[in-house]
Formats: sequence, C-alpha cells, structure tokens
Amino acid sequence: MDKKYDYLIVGAGLFGATFAYEMKKNGKKCLVIDRRNHIGGNIYCEKIKDINVHKYGAHIFHTSNKAIWDYVNKFVEFNNYVNSPIANYKGEIYNLPFNMNTFSKLWNIATPSEAQAIIEEQKKELKGKTPSNLEEQAISLVGKDIYQKLIKEYTEKQWGRDCKELPSFIIKRLPVRFTYNNNYFNDRYQGIPIGGYNIIIQKMLERCTVELNVDYLKEKDKYRSLADKVLYTGMIDEYFDYCLGKLSYRSLRFETEVLEGVENYQGNAVVNYTSHEQAYTRIIEHKHFEFGTGPDTVITREYPIDWNPNEEAYYPVNDEKNNQLFQKYQELAKKEEKVLFGGRLGHYKYYDMDKVIEASLNLVEQELGE
Ligand code: UDP
Repeated sequence: MDKKYDYLIVGAGLFGATFAYEMKKNGKKCLVIDRRNHIGGNIYCEKIKDINVHKYGAHIFHTSNKAIWDYVNKFVEFNNYVNSPIANYKGEIYNLPFNMNTFSKLWNIATPSEAQAIIEEQKKELKGKTPSNLEEQAISLVGKDIYQKLIKEYTEKQWGRDCKELPSFIIKRLPVRFTYNNNYFNDRYQGIPIGGYNIIIQKMLERCTVELNVDYLKEKDKYRSLADKVLYTGMIDEYFDYCLGKLSYRSLRFETEVLEGVENYQGNAVVNYTSHEQAYTRIIEHKHFEFGTGPDTVITREYPIDWNPNEEAYYPVNDEKNNQLFQKYQELAKKEEKVLFGGRLGHYKYYDMDKVIEASLNLVEQELGE
C-alpha cells in the first residue's frame, strides 16, 4: 500500500526545514513533526517588547559560501550586523576576537610586531611542541595572558571541564588578527534576518504539513507508518535508546529579563563574562542584533549546565571518546532501513547554521540522485 507521505521529517529546525522545502519543491510529500510547540528549532525567536529574542541562544548568520548566502537571502533580507563581542574580565573590558584592540589594551602597545613579540615570549613554555589540547592551542595562538583572562575560565564554564581535556579545534573557531578589526568572524557574508529567523523557517515550511507537540520516539509506530522514509534530526543516541551508552552534550539555562524603560543596557549585543566571578558565560541584549531603538530592552544571561535527558542538548562534546561512540551509533544508523539522520544532533557535530544548510542540501541531492 502506498504511504501517505514520501518523507516524515522529525524536527522542524534548520536542517529539517531546508530538507522539507527542497523535497516539496521536487514534488515530494512531507510531514514535519516537532516535539516543541513551535517550528524553528534553536533558531526560533520570540517577540517580546517588539524585540526578536533569540530564545535558544544568540544566532548570527555568517558564511563564506556564496551559494548558501544567496540561498538564505531568497527567504529573507539580512541586515548588516557585524558581531563584535566585548569581553568583561573582572570589570576590565576587552575587544573580541583577539586582535590589535585586545593586545593594545592588555599590554599597552600599539604595533603588530610588539604584540607578536609578546605572544612569542609567552608561548615559549610550549617548547615548540604541536598543541594537543585546547589549553596548549590557546597559549600557542595568543600567549598566556590572554589565555588566563579571556579563555581559561570562560571555556571551563562553557564546557564544564578543564581546558587540557578539550579538543583544540574549539578555540580555532575564533580568529586571531594582528589588525585593529573587531569582526568576530572571518566569513565574507554576515548578518541577521530583518524581522527575525522565524521568517526563514515559516517560508521553508509554508506548504508542508506540520504537527507540533509530537514526540516521535513516543509515537514511533503511528508516525513511522505514514511515510516511506524518515529524516530524524534529534539526538542519534536517544533514537537508539542510548543502547551503546550516552554521548556527552552541554546544555544551557537562559535567564531572560525584560527591562522596561531601559533603552540600552550594555551597549552591545554580546558581552562575554570570562571569569569565574559570574556563573553565566554571556549576556545577550537582543535589540542590538537589529539596531533596535525602542524604549525598553530584553537581556538574557546564558548559564552553561550539564546535560541530562531532561534538558535540551545544545552542544555536542566532540572529543575523541565521544566521536568514537558516535561512530558506533553511525554504524547502527546505516543499518536502519529508510531512516536518514541530520543536523547538529543527528550528525553529532558542532555545526554553524551555514553548515547545517549545506549538509541538508547535500542530503537532498543524495536522495534525489538515488
Ligand atoms: N571562547 C573563549 N572566550 C570567549 C569566547 C569564546 O575562551 O570570550 C572559547 C570557548 O572555549 C568557546 C569557544 O571559544 O567554547 C568557541 O566560541 P564561540 O563564540 O564560537 O562559541 P558559541 O557561540 O558557539 O557558543
């Protein structure tokens, strides 16, 4: 008997919505379900005081892939927001990412060669060895002072473990520049959707059937039988009932405050708190993502927390041990007939948004090519 849908898409986030949009365009029938009460996954924004509040953490779109930039611009126009976070270490203010503004404030110097000389001196303790963990990688990139004030404690809060126990790729996400340039990203294209991220997802899912508040794993029999194939974008280990053990994730707790009559709380969208003095890693003032000028503001303090099955999983911990366990889950996934996996949780990968879209489009191509 023919199934009602070609694809059941579990998860209405960016990966699932991109897949649904493309499949629909190619004449496939899709049913999209999500266990939350809204679409958009973690890029979902909630309007408070006419401000788009990034409900599941700040999202700044950036990419060097022109095709992906053109792709997202089909759904919404982007503003010219450039992310330039500020770091607050015990009341001292520094520019991020690590650049000449950071170095000159910290060491009272002015030129790239002075900064380079100090970093060279401070990384001598590594004795030229190739960095094998985040601590060594950080010291080798920016020296000991910056590691201690802007990286060590922030990273320990963020990941809940010592910097020596973390993979170095995490710190390589951040640019290090010997120019006076506070742009957090090196990517060619960057911005925030004018009107918010929800517009993208709404347009992607415009003509798809969407059911919310549905937990696929609890109603698997009912939903599995509706479609020929499944795209699952939730946690891969949860899908297999953690049968090989749990993968590690970091979760977040958000404390959002509406400040009535406060026009401008912190003067920047993102302020990182890089010492242990605060339990939160950053405060987001959402209006600055869209250059808001209204009379009120909304801020969110972001507290990293340990993940457990009652919490949302935000970050995969891509260290060697977990990556190996993921490989084993992937073996199981390959045997799962007519089920595809995708997204940050399905691929267990610290993806940025552009990479999510890219991966989803690749999967579409693979599917349609079959
Ligand atoms: N990081 C840091 N100090 C900062 C900002 C970032 O040490 O002020 C490190 C930290 O280990 C973090 C990593 O750089 O996990 C990547 O930061 P990014 O801002 O890319 O993280 P995300 O926005 O994805 O949480």
